[in-house]
Order: sequence, then structure tokens, then C-alpha cells
Amino acid sequence: MGFQIAIDGPSGAGKSTIAKLVAKERGAIYVDTGAMYRALAIFFIDNGIDGDDKNLVANKVKSANVELKYIDGVQKVILNGEDVTARLRKEEVGNMASKTSSVPEVRKALLELQRDMAKKNDVVMDGRDIGTMVLPNADLKIFLTASSDVRAKRRYDELVEKGETPDFDSIKADIEERDYRDSHREIAPLKKADDAIEIDSSNMSIEEVVDEIVKAIKE
Ligand code: C5P
Repeated sequence: MGFQIAIDGPSGAGKSTIAKLVAKERGAIYVDTGAMYRALAIFFIDNGIDGDDKNLVANKVKSANVELKYIDGVQKVILNGEDVTARLRKEEVGNMASKTSSVPEVRKALLELQRDMAKKNDVVMDGRDIGTMVLPNADLKIFLTASSDVRAKRRYDELVEKGETPDFDSIKADIEERDYRDSHREIAPLKKADDAIEIDSSNMSIEEVVDEIVKAIKE
């Protein structure tokens, strides 16, 4: 069993940026579990499956195979043999993932893969249920949050940077809707593990958050 750091929290709290830096600092691999749910979402979109039809999603997920590969330390997500990494961050993919991740069969399909990666490697793994469900015995658990305004602003800036012309209010509404779905689903809802350290990054720089986590590792 390798060294395990679990970072959970709502979307846009900065989990992936922080987790990547902590992984580098520790010489661990970064496992982005949201990317796995997003890869399955791409499968559902490409096959014209309605994300609200839970029975159909449960049935079709059997035909999807997700793998993670690391090329020069960068995570690549492979869906049924095809590299889908470039499509993962699209809004429609995130929205589909947020719907279909509440289906038990979808979660089951990914749980084993996630635990297996943590068994074979030192990992910094981020998601919604890592500290509560996937790695309940993780060496360190962090619950990373930020206000929805700050998270929407970060996403907005990210899209502007990419040359897009996003609408702030609809990004914020999307984020709040996703938070609600993630925290109210029956199976593995987003919630802080009892033994997790909560960090609100609303008024913190990336470096400050990483420093706090690195300090917690050493304690
Ligand atoms: O973190 P990210 O925004 O990439 O995750 C996309 C969606 O995947 C989330 O909205 C959430 O519904 C789902 N997810 C999950 N459990 C995880 C990681 C992601 O349910 N461990």
C-alpha cells in the first residue's frame, strides 16, 4: 500500500491544480477521478444516451472501459482505446458526468480502478468521495472548498484565457446546480470526511494552500 493523500471538494475549488503540485512535491502520481467520470460521460454523449435515464446509463456503462496512462507524468484518459483527454473539460461533459455519477453501476465501474491505482502507487487522488469511500484509510484527507462566486470567477477566467466568451451567471448557476447534485445524491455524496482537514481557498493563493497541505503531511 502506497502513501495516500485524498483531496475532496466541490468543482472549481482548485483541487486538481493543488493536487498536481502536492503530487510533484511528494513524488507521487496525481489521480484525477473526476476525469474518469468525465470519460464515461463522453461515452454516454457519443452514444446518444440520456443522462437522466438511470436504467439505461446503468446498463450501457458495461460497454465502456476507462484507463489512465501517464506520459511524462501527465495523466491521459483512455476510453475504449481512444485518448479522450482533450475533450474532458468541456461544459457539456461536466454536466453529463454530474448526472451519471449518481448511478451506482457507474461508481462501481470506477471504484476498483481507483483503489487499484492507490494500491500500486503513492497517490494524490482528488474527487468527491475519496476520503469517505474510495480511500477511507488515506494518510491525509483534505476537504478543499471555496465560495461559489470565487469558483465561478476562476472558471470564467479560465474560459476567457482560452479565447471563449462565457457568461458568468450561467457558469455560477451550473456550479451551484452541480454542487447540489453532488451533495444530495444517495450514493457517495460529496461531504467532508470526519477526519479531513478543511481548507477554504476563497482568499488563499495556490502556494498558500499547497504549503498548508505540505505542512499537514509533515505533522
Ligand atoms: O471534478 P470534476 O468536475 O472533474 O468531476 C466531474 C463530475 O464527476 C462531478 O460533478 C461529480 O459528479 C463526479 N465525480 C464524482 N466522484 C468523484 C469525482 C467526480 O462523483 N470522485
